[in-house]
Amino acid sequence: MNKLGFITEELEKLKEAGLLINIRTIEGPQGAWITVDGKKVFNLCSNNYLGFANDPQLKSSAQKAIETYGVGPAAVRTIAGTTTLHKELERKLALFKGVESAITFQSGFCANLAVIPAIVGEGDVVFSDELNHASIIDGCRLSKAKIVRYGHCNPKDLQLKISEEKDARRMLIITDGVFSMEGDIAPLPEIVEIAENFGAITMVDDAHGEGVLGRGGRGIVDLFKLHGRVDIEVGTLSKAFGVVGGYIAGSKRLTDYLVQKGRPFLFSSAVTAADVAACIAAVDILIASDTLVKQLWQNTAFFQEKMRPIGFNLGQTKTPITPVMIGDAKVAKDFSQKLFEEGVFAQAIGYPTVSMGKARIRVMLSAAHSKDDLIRAIERFERIGKSLGILK
Ligand SMILES: *Cc1c(COP(=O)(O)O)cnc(C)c1O
Repeated sequence: MNKLGFITEELEKLKEAGLLINIRTIEGPQGAWITVDGKKVFNLCSNNYLGFANDPQLKSSAQKAIETYGVGPAAVRTIAGTTTLHKELERKLALFKGVESAITFQSGFCANLAVIPAIVGEGDVVFSDELNHASIIDGCRLSKAKIVRYGHCNPKDLQLKISEEKDARRMLIITDGVFSMEGDIAPLPEIVEIAENFGAITMVDDAHGEGVLGRGGRGIVDLFKLHGRVDIEVGTLSKAFGVVGGYIAGSKRLTDYLVQKGRPFLFSSAVTAADVAACIAAVDILIASDTLVKQLWQNTAFFQEKMRPIGFNLGQTKTPITPVMIGDAKVAKDFSQKLFEEGVFAQAIGYPTVSMGKARIRVMLSAAHSKDDLIRAIERFERIGKSLGILK
């Protein structure tokens, strides 16, 4: 009997449906230009919003940390894996976010897996935007709470669904701050108001918002001036911060609790001193200056204001995440391949990441991009768009 035969079948099915993921290999650092599978291309794919992934200040901080602390944490944080650097990063993140306290995790994914099951369990209800990130969905499943999905960015639907669950022991509303495939922003003020009316706990995952939204990139809570009214903020250190790791920001009571109850914190080692030192440098730069955040928004406006008049549909984006709507998944793949051949790296995204028939090229803008390079990329989009019949 071939016990693992199903794997071959599953992979074949994915391949036939055109859904098999094929990973491109990057040689060298992340930046505006990268070498992919041996070819130098203009990078419109990464979450490196501010160019921190190869920043000299972050790199030298990481190198110094290796000299002082070595390379491995050698234990989970609750046993012997917390260094003075980890504490310093948490203090600075709390300062940056304007909250009492922060606690770091190995990734944003882990932060969601840690916090949701710590806050809700059997007898509780989670209200989750239907387009929330996979790590939120998995955190909800792990919690064993009842999961109620509400319409995407639809406070009316949330209000309706929450009013039907009044018997719950605890209620938790979770939303992405910025939705990673659309680039739209959660209606957080309305969500917070509903939560306050119903006594629900609020949680926002600001992975694509920090370093991007609000004053100097302080995130969605700062953008809407909701300080003190959102109970749990989730962050990642792998996007605008350019490194790796995740965190939860909120009250000291919350972070104290997660030290006791956050399972990825308790049972898995932390990121290394080098990672932490690089993150501290990133936060220091953001606290000192909003130059990079401003540059990111200038590049975003420049690209989007040039693409729309050409005839491209950019969906509902309000952020540097720019979906260039194509429709058919095969055409989107073709478009991406043609861009790549012409030196522009932008991924096609299709089902199941987005709904059927809503395939797109997702362009991620960065402060690291130059205007000249963006102009050349737009020219290529236009040429290929015409040749594939996307543009009239
Ligand atoms: C990217 C992302 C994560 C995962 O962050 P990692 O640090 O890469 O694990 C979590 N939530 C949202 C909304 C994201 O966009």
